[in-house]
Amino acid sequence: MPEGPSIIIAKEAIQQFKGKKIVAAKGYAKIDYNKLRGKKITGVKTWGKHLLICVGQTTIRIHFLMFGKYYINERKKTTPVLSLQFDKKQELNIYTSAIKLIEEPLDNVYDWSADVLGKLWDPKAARKKLKAGPNALVADAILDQAIFSGAGNIIKNEVLYKIKVHPKSKIGALPSAKLTALINEVRDYSFDFLKWKRENTLKKHWLAHTKKICSRDGSPLQKEYIGKTKRRSFFCKKCQILY
Ligand SMILES: [Zn+2]
Repeated sequence: MPEGPSIIIAKEAIQQFKGKKIVAAKGYAKIDYNKLRGKKITGVKTWGKHLLICVGQTTIRIHFLMFGKYYINERKKTTPVLSLQFDKKQELNIYTSAIKLIEEPLDNVYDWSADVLGKLWDPKAARKKLKAGPNALVADAILDQAIFSGAGNIIKNEVLYKIKVHPKSKIGALPSAKLTALINEVRDYSFDFLKWKRENTLKKHWLAHTKKICSRDGSPLQKEYIGKTKRRSFFCKKCQILY
C-alpha cells in the first residue's frame, strides 16, 4: 500500500493538470461523471494516503488501496477506474483504487492536524489522541490514520526500530520522552521516506522492514503479525523494549 510520501509524489506529478479542462471523464467508479466533464482542475492536495483532485466545489478523492496506480499520458491494458482526458491527448488514468466525490468543503472533512507530512501537522494534537487510547498497542496507534494520517507499515516498523520500542508495547506504558520520540519520529521518518523515495533509495535505508538481522546487536529480527491491524512487524527482541 502506498504510504503518505508516495502520495505527495503523485500529487506533484498530477499538478501539471492544474488549470486544465476535463474534456472527458469515464471509468467504472460509481460517481457522477457529469460533475467533472467540462470543468477545470483547480488544485491537487493530499491528506495522508488520500489524493485529492479539486474540480471547483467538487473534490475527487483517490485512495490507492493495496495495488492502485496512476498513469499520466499512458494506459495499462486493463480498464481504469477513472480516466480524465484533457486537450492535446493528455490524460490521467487511475487503476484499482477507491474513488469518491466529496461535495463538502475539505476543511469539514479532514483533520489537517493529523497529516504527518502536512503544514498543519500538530504534535500536541497527536499526543492528546494517543493519551485518549492508553491500551492501544504502539503498532496499531502508528497505523491509526486519525492520529498519524499517511503513516503505513514501513514507517511503523522503521520508527519503532529507531526509537527502540517493541511493537506490542502499550501507548499508556511508554515513558513521556518515548512518546515524544514516537510522535516526532513518525513525522521525521516520513520526510526521510519522501526524500529516499525521490532518490529511489528507500529500500536501501530500511533497517527493520523485511530485514533479518539487527544492525545494532546482530540478533535475528522477529517477524510477526501484530495488533488489530495484523500487519507485518519486524523487530528486535533484544534492543526494542517492551513497555
Ligand atoms: Zn537489536
